[in-house]
Amino acid sequence: MKLKQKDSFTCPFCLHSFLQSEALYRCVALPQICRPEQDDIFDGFFDVAPEKRGRVFEGQSRQIRKLSLSSFQTTQVKCDMCATKTNAQVCPHCHGDLPEDFFSMVHVPFALQADNEEVPNLFVAGLLEKLGKITGHDIQATIEKVPLMNGFIFSFDKSSFGSKRVLVSFHTLNNIENEENKKSLKAALVFLEATTLFGDKDVSFAYKDIENISNDLMSGAILGINFYNIDDYYGYFAKTSAVVDSPDFRDGYQNLCGEYVSQEILTLFGAAYGVNFLRQIRQNIKPWRFGVCSLRDNHNVPLASYHRIEDLFLWQLHYVLEKGI
Ligand SMILES: [Zn+2]
Ligand SMILES: [Zn+2]
Repeated sequence: MKLKQKDSFTCPFCLHSFLQSEALYRCVALPQICRPEQDDIFDGFFDVAPEKRGRVFEGQSRQIRKLSLSSFQTTQVKCDMCATKTNAQVCPHCHGDLPEDFFSMVHVPFALQADNEEVPNLFVAGLLEKLGKITGHDIQATIEKVPLMNGFIFSFDKSSFGSKRVLVSFHTLNNIENEENKKSLKAALVFLEATTLFGDKDVSFAYKDIENISNDLMSGAILGINFYNIDDYYGYFAKTSAVVDSPDFRDGYQNLCGEYVSQEILTLFGAAYGVNFLRQIRQNIKPWRFGVCSLRDNHNVPLASYHRIEDLFLWQLHYVLEKGI
């Protein structure tokens, strides 16, 4: 096994690890100054219409080495073709355009796993919308979407996360071909239909999903097992206001009410999936938590739109940032 180097960075697109000195540059000069080129590596990785892009080139190693000592300074190099200065950097493996301050941010890559392939996209879109509503009061942060990326940047401001910029990227576990890259993941969310908790549906599929993830994963990644489509089943939890209420982050991102939800699901899970499987999870995966969520923008009483969609995610993010995993 190749050991991950301490000063390596993980690409938010392809999850390859690379050193800052290995990052390539993209020329940003106008097309009439520097002719755009076909970027086969980029086109091979990103599912967008092929178009010619700014030339990708290597910066001079001496220049980069000097600048990497002061990591917050933006590196500027001259294009090897037209000599226009650029600080736009790309991943050496996929040529994905890295956010401007990528090397000074904390990057937290999440894996998403679901039995239905639409679920990861629904989740990311719903999460982004919900976070857009709660940042600023519940979460002291602002959020920006990064072009091309399935993810976003948090700028936290005096919260329990401290003042920092955090890049969150999402990756569908089944699409990660390179086994080594899975080791870069810091957290994983497995989505299971809530109906499997109540014996309405064959659970073997879900069972396999969790088993796969525990086999695949993952040196210390934080696991959240998230039961979606909870809207249809809130009646089952009528006595448990913890499940029906919105998450409450007043006691910080430890999110005590999220812990109550997890406890509540535990019994149902044991009944649906068997206590032996539950024991396996407890023994083999640490740390982990159950959650419930809605992936719908509905207004059914009593569940709010995208009910608890941020719950497990914020707990995992806090865990990663707090423990520096
Ligand atoms: Zn990449
Ligand atoms: Zn150029």
